[in-house]
Amino acid sequence: MKNTLPLLLLFILSLSACVTLNETGQKKLLLTTTEQENQMGEEGYEEVLKTAKITKTEPVYSILQDVGSRIAAVANRPDFTWEYNLIDEDQLNAWCMPGGKIAVYTGILPFMKNEAGMAAVIGHEVAHATLRHSGQRISQEMGMSVILGVVSGGLQSSQNHDQIMGLLGAGATVGVMLPYGRKHETEADLIGLQYMARAGYDPQQAISFWERFAEITKGSAPPEFLSTHPGSGTRINDLQKHMSEAVALYKKAPKQYGQGRDLPTLPQTKKK
Ligand SMILES: [Zn+2]
Repeated sequence: MKNTLPLLLLFILSLSACVTLNETGQKKLLLTTTEQENQMGEEGYEEVLKTAKITKTEPVYSILQDVGSRIAAVANRPDFTWEYNLIDEDQLNAWCMPGGKIAVYTGILPFMKNEAGMAAVIGHEVAHATLRHSGQRISQEMGMSVILGVVSGGLQSSQNHDQIMGLLGAGATVGVMLPYGRKHETEADLIGLQYMARAGYDPQQAISFWERFAEITKGSAPPEFLSTHPGSGTRINDLQKHMSEAVALYKKAPKQYGQGRDLPTLPQTKKK
């Protein structure tokens, strides 16, 4: 009697194991449901925010709300409860957890440079979330028992806490870097480019962002955000290949913002 419940749950979960994703039309192996992923994202986010130094410095904070909500509007995920927070930390990092929980670190702002650069990064990170890359990684890397443990007992009590946080996208935050696979990166680049264009930002700025970002890989070891992302040459080529479609989407956007406002460099992120 006692053992029937996990088996039943396993059966119910297996029904959702192969789903077709709207954005790519491809079938993926998923052991988690979107509800479970969003719940994990929500818990993970709450946990990060508990210890992170949140800042509402203007005008960056308002710009983040504007860019974030414009990307959210085109991402079309009514099941997401979007949130955009700015974390005052000199980290080259940004992520979006399942459910639309976004964090941008002040350290990456100089490389974003303007609203469109921010839209390129947020578009890319949101695409990881809407394409359910975390769910796919959790399904592949963690056992069913871990998934059930997290959704029933909460992320904080999970023994695999750091790894799950890494799989959800907040790797650098917990010090466990779990890079997305090459395929996931390419997908996120492509869908992210479409998001930024449809949100009214000049898609060419995505290439400018990755070029600025590639500059810092010269010399010493790449920063964390970059080390989890593939080389810039191929990425820029791939973006270029899809640029004409993206420009067409940009022209059809209800409003064109171009590069948008420039982002001021915050005092604490100034490099000496
Ligand atoms: Zn990525």
